[in-house]
Amino acid sequence: MAEQIQVTRSLFDDVMVPNYAPAKMIPVKGQGSRVWDQDGREYVDFAGGIAVSSLGHCHPAMVSALTEQAGKLWHLSNVLTNEPALRLASKLVQQTFAEKVFFANSGAEANEAAFKLARRWALEVHGEHKHEIISFSKSFHGRTFFTVTVGGQASYSDGFGPKPGAVLHAEFNNLDSVKALMSERTCAVVLEPIQGEGGIIPATQEFLDGVRALCDQHQALLVMDEVQTGVGRTGSLYAYMNYQVEPDILTTAKSLGGGFPIGAMLTTTEIAKHLKVGTHGTTYGGNPLACAVAEAVIDTINTPEVLQGVLAKEQLFRQRLAAINEQYQVFSEVRGKGMLLGAVLNEKYQGRARDFFLAAADHGLMALVAGVNVVRFAPSLVITEQDIQDGMDRFEQAVAQVVNAA
Ligand SMILES: *Cc1c(COP(=O)(O)O)cnc(C)c1O
Repeated sequence: MAEQIQVTRSLFDDVMVPNYAPAKMIPVKGQGSRVWDQDGREYVDFAGGIAVSSLGHCHPAMVSALTEQAGKLWHLSNVLTNEPALRLASKLVQQTFAEKVFFANSGAEANEAAFKLARRWALEVHGEHKHEIISFSKSFHGRTFFTVTVGGQASYSDGFGPKPGAVLHAEFNNLDSVKALMSERTCAVVLEPIQGEGGIIPATQEFLDGVRALCDQHQALLVMDEVQTGVGRTGSLYAYMNYQVEPDILTTAKSLGGGFPIGAMLTTTEIAKHLKVGTHGTTYGGNPLACAVAEAVIDTINTPEVLQGVLAKEQLFRQRLAAINEQYQVFSEVRGKGMLLGAVLNEKYQGRARDFFLAAADHGLMALVAGVNVVRFAPSLVITEQDIQDGMDRFEQAVAQVVNAA
């Protein structure tokens, strides 16, 4: 008989690599936007597993897609194709600028594919000189060595030996800084329409318009990393739609699987043709289980009711945060769009986002930080009004605790 393991938080320190520092409690069950820990304590979930649980926990559409597919077919490898992958790809193509899809298992892998494709496209269409990738300070694109190097936080990529080269960083929302780096060597500009990990910083319309024009002028590809902003989170299926600025390559993950690992890279036929047979691949990418779940997620989210609901919920979040701020004066602004919001701490509370996050957990609310000065909210896109009100009541108590302890 298999040995019964006594699972406690201290077991983490015994058996896990120490690259994470998880909270003291261990969640064991979730339903909608509520989560319960081992002691039966209940939490309102405003984190959504870092913008992943787009339909909350155990949404019936996802459970039935997963369990139905689980009884049919789990895995084939990419030597064969499968029905869920082709259905999902068709829907992504129908609903976006894209004509072709590559499936991966995470955001980093989707970006890795995007950057390799951009390099291969530039090499084949323009020649060896065209290989520079321009991205932005504070950007985040994943933790593989290429993606973390493209990301704009050197502290994440330092300390692992020589980095992939020809990666340059400009200032986000500063078009002149992009202009200064652009040349005939530029193969791609990579950006998040709203920088997520960097602090919930939306691109301005002028900036995105300008970057698009610069890319066209220098025959460089515009790659949008919508791993955090995609799949309805900002009230449109993808955030680029809010700006009416189309990328050449788009990456999506997080909300796409609603908690089941999947990522995808979307592009045009003309660009996609440079990933010929054998140039790139993955064992699990596009596997039937992940694609069946993602199809259910897309079907559920990509409706006018859910997408408009996201914007209505944003208004409720903003109203409650404004009222809390009126009383306690802790934020300088609330940034972001839809269910990706950042409450930016004012001068008095600089560097203390984690204190608010910990106080929230004390009061039964799962929130997030984005850097040291922003409290981030990325809940389910179908969170109920009652859950928002209850969560905000708890957040108000958390804010009071931090303010009164000062
Ligand atoms: C989370 C994130 C990634 C990385 O996704 P993983 O699934 O963790 O590899 C990449 N880009 C952005 C914008 C993200 O928010």
